[in-house]
Amino acid sequence: MRLIVLASGSSGNCALVESGGRAVLLDAGISARETLRRIAVAGAVDARIEAILLTHEHVDHVRGARVLARRLGIPVMATAGTLQAAVGALADVPEVIAIARRGQFQAAGMRISSFATAHDASESCGYVFESRRGHRAGVATDTGVVTPEIAEALSGCHVLGLESNHDETMLAVGPYPPFLKRRIAGDRGHLSNDAAASALGTLAWKGLSHVFALHLSEQNNTPERARAALARTLCDTAALETIERNEIGGCAL
Ligand SMILES: [Zn+2]
Ligand SMILES: [Zn+2]
Repeated sequence: MRLIVLASGSSGNCALVESGGRAVLLDAGISARETLRRIAVAGAVDARIEAILLTHEHVDHVRGARVLARRLGIPVMATAGTLQAAVGALADVPEVIAIARRGQFQAAGMRISSFATAHDASESCGYVFESRRGHRAGVATDTGVVTPEIAEALSGCHVLGLESNHDETMLAVGPYPPFLKRRIAGDRGHLSNDAAASALGTLAWKGLSHVFALHLSEQNNTPERARAALARTLCDTAALETIERNEIGGCAL
């Protein structure tokens, strides 16, 4: 099983989750051309992409979905609320498949569980991917808080992608207008380094091998601050990687 983060942050989010040669794209927030280029750079052209799975309708998660779905001839999967909110961005895609915001379904040979995130979107969610061999990779971004539901869903994962959006002090003293600061720091905004660290404290276990800090703000965070915060609560066995906007990162289990 591989998790490859192709893009992360407000300029675009996209990851490839592959197991046994079959893969799904988790969000498609960069252009189709750039997505395919980065898949090649990551050495994953051999993965057969069978679906695009969306977390929510914000443009940094759906920008490339339409062109990619059409070019690859694959369905777009998301909650009914997300599909409805993104209907304009998904015009003429080969197929849309509504999945439950809280439930289990199959795609690309993996068992995927969805869980609700707390975000200012229509029906946002995160996912845990489980391979046939029992490896679990969970990704939660674009959530203002880590709810008990999210913590429960992400427990026992071998790989975690967790939002570490902003440093609370940098956001507070930074250049954003007050309404935007309130939105980001709110319960339906984005997760701070400290909130991510505190969640990681309960999620870390001996089977956790890789943690990716995702959706870092360019204005209100630095990779060093995110890494320092998360490293405080992470067990020694897991590798910690911060993904900057134009970086590709990944791991294989
Ligand atoms: Zn986002
Ligand atoms: Zn969002």
